Amino acid sequence: MSSLQPVRGTHDLLPDESRRHRWVEEAAFTAARRYGFGEVSTPIFEFTEVFSRTLGETSDVVTKEMYTFSDRSGESLTLRPEGTAGVARAFISNGLAQSLPLKLFYRGPMFRHERPQKGRLRQFHQVGVELLGVESPLADVEVIALAWRVLSELGLASKVRLEINTLGDAESREAYRNTLTAYLSDFRSALSEDSRNRLDRNPLRILDSKDEGDRRIVENAPLMTESLSPAAREFFQTVTSGLQTLGIPFMVNPRLVRGLDYYCHTAFEFTTTSLGAQGTVLAGGRYDELIAQMGGARTPGIGWAAGVERLSMLVEEPPPLPRPVSVIPMGDDMAAMHVAERLRRAGISVDMGYSGNMKKRMARANKANARFAVICGQEETARRAVTIRDLDGGSQEEVPLDLLEQHLVRLL
Ligand code: ATP
Ligand code: MG
Repeated sequence: MSSLQPVRGTHDLLPDESRRHRWVEEAAFTAARRYGFGEVSTPIFEFTEVFSRTLGETSDVVTKEMYTFSDRSGESLTLRPEGTAGVARAFISNGLAQSLPLKLFYRGPMFRHERPQKGRLRQFHQVGVELLGVESPLADVEVIALAWRVLSELGLASKVRLEINTLGDAESREAYRNTLTAYLSDFRSALSEDSRNRLDRNPLRILDSKDEGDRRIVENAPLMTESLSPAAREFFQTVTSGLQTLGIPFMVNPRLVRGLDYYCHTAFEFTTTSLGAQGTVLAGGRYDELIAQMGGARTPGIGWAAGVERLSMLVEEPPPLPRPVSVIPMGDDMAAMHVAERLRRAGISVDMGYSGNMKKRMARANKANARFAVICGQEETARRAVTIRDLDGGSQEEVPLDLLEQHLVRLL
């Protein structure tokens, strides 16, 4: 019955893991809001061209990883492999060019047909931000500062490292492309098949190859740094000195490139050594030509996305939930249910079992980490009262039913 297993590379988020996910997402959203970002939620599938035209026809995502299907009317649709293209599409479809600059946060599932491993899934989750309409390198500094803030709030400042590079402007990339093609052509026959195919179409992509042989060749390739135009150099200089001013530690990695085609200028990644091969937890960059490429008015942009599963593996325990109260019926179960309902209405978390003797129910209360037990005995119920037992201290007292909510709210 293989159909009772989740699809390879997907997983169920049971309550404990969900709580970690939520915590990561909420930390990201809370920080993003503090930086002026509002939440946007775009569809989980788009017309295939939204991705195929923008991410780059030689990118891994487009060539190997997309979940693409025709729907019942024969449209080619793709489950989103990433968030930026959909947000850019939404920016154009909703005519948001009037509202620039725009700061958008998103969260949700992404889909890539990859080989599943620890930290690499076929349905995974991202949180991400996009800042649209700002040409200035200050925007780069601000979104990186936000990423650093999020990771710090999650207690990961000492576990991650920021690597940053510049991919230059169009002029620099053109110059670099020529230099790089000349270098790589000497190794044409030694390159992997994928990289040979990319040599004429998109040699920069080869720098990001995960093939061992390619990596050895790339190690000695000329660097982008040497091909930078003065303007691109100055832009990058402003970004790095901005990070210094804000006290955000980073290292320049002149070999860092990004897997998708739409990036220019700043590219960055936060990596960790604690997750084995899947070490990148958050990655992003600038994409000034993306929206124009899609058919909108040219609008610069910069953003990042973080993998929620990878972050959730890194973080310590999320902050504890407020401890519940256990309602324990001793006779009239429905009267107890009524008491539980009243407490919940007053905002108190209540645990209540459906059956069992007093001992069993007390064990359940302890397992739920309840702070108090509210015991609804037959006699107390008759005189419109309950007994509150302090499960930490052991003391107990009888409280009139009418005062129960206010009494408990005060105790909690
Ligand atoms: P990698 O080099 O690990 O394949 P990527 O460059 O493809 O990552 P991005 O497209 O930059 O990843 O996505 C941003 C983040 O989303 C990654 O840094 C990672 O944390 C997460 N991520 C990407 N792909 C997966 C996946 N298949 N499973 C889980 N998380 C992922
Ligand atoms: Mg990938």
